[in-house]
Amino acid sequence: DTPVLRKPKWIRVKAPGSPVYTETKKIVRDHGLVTVCEEAGCPNIGECWSKKHATMMIMGEACTRACAFCNVATGLPKPLDPEEPENVARAVEKLGLKHVVITSVDRDDLADGGAQHFVDVIGAIRARAPGTTIEILTPDFLRKEGAIEKVAEAKPDVFNHNLETVPRLYPSIRPGARYFHSLRLLQRVKEVDPTIFTKSGLMAGLGESREEILQVMDDMRSADIDFLTIGQYLQPTRKHAAVDRFVTPEEFASYERIARTKGFLLVSSSPLTRSSYHADEDFVRLREA
Ligand code: SF4
Ligand code: SF4
Repeated sequence: DTPVLRKPKWIRVKAPGSPVYTETKKIVRDHGLVTVCEEAGCPNIGECWSKKHATMMIMGEACTRACAFCNVATGLPKPLDPEEPENVARAVEKLGLKHVVITSVDRDDLADGGAQHFVDVIGAIRARAPGTTIEILTPDFLRKEGAIEKVAEAKPDVFNHNLETVPRLYPSIRPGARYFHSLRLLQRVKEVDPTIFTKSGLMAGLGESREEILQVMDDMRSADIDFLTIGQYLQPTRKHAAVDRFVTPEEFASYERIARTKGFLLVSSSPLTRSSYHADEDFVRLREA
């Protein structure tokens, strides 16, 4: 049994509890939605929900994969809820969001991996909240012919898919996934529609080296990926992959500087960065620049 490392002082978060936090929670509950903020036990929930920034997780609470870092339950998912696109759209309208992030579990059980459901959710949000920019964080659609193209053709503003870790660690950390498939997915999105911004993210502290992170950045730029996020991996429970080390805020800042010189348009690299952390503010700022 690997000993659990003590969290350093820079992994500190505000406790939830502001009035806006409670309002966000109510809207989420009233629309029967699942959020990755809760499912993943995200440390930023107090801050994000106090700004109404909740990341919806569609297609159920059970995932067909079992990534070693992820707190989402693995199991046989239920059939898709046909009401979900409309419920998500209503919640987005009610929250009055400028930018929304929609993610999902992996649905290897569905013939199209859930691509059409993503398309329906994008369509429903566009109809109800035409001023809201949409960021999707999708599964890898491995072995789902035509799925990536279908989702890209629905024109989300940002297409995000996380590489999560360096290729050497895939067999232990992301066993069901393939590094080059995930990279290729994002490149394919750009080929289908170059006006869509592409985005990807990494967790640091899983045992990767600095050189490996810099190599992944280069791979990402060769696949025309526009935005990058890097954050500290935190072990959700003792059953999950152990934290190898806590990367210092200075190292994160150094990754951010290097990533900018490599040409990423938006970079967030800090201990508490998550894929959807400040995604709204960052993207709105970029569009207004
Ligand atoms: Fe939710 Fe993302 Fe904020 Fe975490 S960082 S609370 S997942 S919106
Ligand atoms: Fe978690 Fe996504 Fe892996 Fe499923 S595919 S276990 S939701 S990271």
